[in-house]
Amino acid sequence: AIGFINGEWIPVDQAVLPIDERGHNFGDGVYEVIRVYQGTPFKMREHLVRLEKSAEAILLTMNYSIDELEALIAEGLAKTGLQEASVYLQVTRGIAKRVHLFPDVPASTTMTIRPATDLPATVREKGVQVTLVEDERWKNCYIKSLNLLPNVVAKQKATDAGFYEAVFVRDGIVLEGSSCNVFLIKDGVLITPPANRFILHGITRATLLEIAKEIGVPMEEKEFGPDELLAADEAFLSSTSMEVLPIVEIDGKQIGAGIPGTISRDLHKNYRAKYQGIGV
Ligand code: PMP
Repeated sequence: AIGFINGEWIPVDQAVLPIDERGHNFGDGVYEVIRVYQGTPFKMREHLVRLEKSAEAILLTMNYSIDELEALIAEGLAKTGLQEASVYLQVTRGIAKRVHLFPDVPASTTMTIRPATDLPATVREKGVQVTLVEDERWKNCYIKSLNLLPNVVAKQKATDAGFYEAVFVRDGIVLEGSSCNVFLIKDGVLITPPANRFILHGITRATLLEIAKEIGVPMEEKEFGPDELLAADEAFLSSTSMEVLPIVEIDGKQIGAGIPGTISRDLHKNYRAKYQGIGV
C-alpha cells in the first residue's frame, strides 16, 4: 500500500495532513474509488471525468489534470506492484486557516493505493438483506462529495440491525444504497432509477446498462417505489467494490425466490468478462 500527498509518495501509515485541511475541517472536497484488476484500472477515465464534474459542481478547480492523474495512478501502481488494488483519490479545497469562504490556495490532492479486498464468496452466493430508510441527504447526491455523514450513519444503523446495506427512499421513491446503486428485474426487464441529481451516477451502473444492451436484456431507467421493489423477481446493488451484489430480502420480505437471480448472475458474469479482458 502507498499514499500520495500533493506530489509526494509516502507509506500510508506515515502520510499525514496539516490540521487546517479543508477536507478535514469542512468535508470540502470530492473523491473517487477506482478498482484495479490484473494491474489495470477499470474505467479510470470515466472515474476521473466524474471527479472533475464533482469538483466543478462545488466550484473547485483541481490541481491536477485528468491526464496527470492517470499518470500518477500508473506511477503509484508501479511502485506498489499491486495487481488487484483499490485506488482512493481525494481532492479538497486546500490547506488554509479555517474560515468558510474559499481560500486563495491550490486544491489538495491525496491518494491511497491498497490491496483490493473482495467480498467473501458466501456473501455473493447467498445474496444480502437490506433495509429501506428515509433519505436525509441533500439534493446534490450526483456529486461524489466527502460529506458522507448520512451515508455512514445509515450504514451503521443498518448493520447494527442485522442488514448488509441501507437503501435510501425519498418522497416514496427508491434511490440508491449508502454506497451503491440499486436495480430490480421484473418480467425480464432491468430497471434502475434515472441518473438525476438524487443519486450518484455510478460507473458500475452505467457499465451494467451497457452490458444489458449488449446481451439483450431490455432495460429501463425509471423511478419506482418500495412496493415495486418488493414485488421484483430479482434485485441487486452495484458499485465499484460490490460489482453486482444480489438482494434476497428487504426488511424481512423475500425478493423473488430468496436466492440470487439468474439475470443478476448473468450480468455479473458479463461484468467480470469485461474487466478480465482489460489488461490483455
Ligand atoms: N451511490 C453511492 C452513494 C456511492 O457512494 C457509490 C460508490 N461508492 C455508488 C452509488 C456506486 O458508484 P460506482 O459504481 O461508480 O462505484
